Amino acid sequence: MRIILLGAPGAGKGTQADSIKAKYPVAHISTGDMLRFHVKQETELGKNAKAYMDAGKLVPDDVIIAMMEHRLQEEDAKEGFMLDGFPRTIAQAEALDAMLSKLQLKLDAVVNLMIDDDTVVGRLTSRRVCRQCGEIYNTVLKPSSKEGVCDKCGGEVVQRDDDKEEVIRKRLSVFHEQTAPLIDYYSNQGLLVAVDATGGKDAVLKILEQKKANA
Ligand code: ADP
Ligand code: ZN
Repeated sequence: MRIILLGAPGAGKGTQADSIKAKYPVAHISTGDMLRFHVKQETELGKNAKAYMDAGKLVPDDVIIAMMEHRLQEEDAKEGFMLDGFPRTIAQAEALDAMLSKLQLKLDAVVNLMIDDDTVVGRLTSRRVCRQCGEIYNTVLKPSSKEGVCDKCGGEVVQRDDDKEEVIRKRLSVFHEQTAPLIDYYSNQGLLVAVDATGGKDAVLKILEQKKANA
């Protein structure tokens, strides 16, 4: 299975990916996670990317495309993958098409996780994350048992710098301007599958299974 999870920040791409992974053990490739890893390790790439990320802007296409060219050639990606947070611009989508045709691979589906902006703002301002293991919490829906402390690893649970309301609004406008055009792009390729992002954590998995059953 090779799919792309498309959707606004806060649509829940990561959550849907976890649910799909439990059923189909394919590589979950999140450019956001990869970038945060680089930032944490203070690599050259990370130092470069951090200012863009903190401002809610996109990291330049050439940086992302080079990173993904490497990632897609790793062993685990051969069995299939879920792309989470990539592509985010038409230039990235075109580069991905070129990478896939070189590797002689085809996409099965592009999932459009639909959600409105106000729901996103509500969701993301209440999101918290473990600094150590990456576990996601929510101050309303899923608080850690002890405030500020991860249930899984005891690490510090914090708000991501880019989950502050101002930055979220900026990320949403970037999404509408630069990423939303991908909906038409993949719709024209006959790959788009629309899913209501408020339909629960297995929403995408359910639709993929239906699609498979009907194929
Ligand atoms: P979300 O989907 O919640 O916005 P991500 O974790 O996917 O967050 O991404 C966090 C940040 O990393 C983005 O705001 C952006 O700065 C950067 N980023 C992630 N993926 C890409 C990408 N494909 N192209 C450019 N920037 C990216
Ligand atoms: Zn943790």
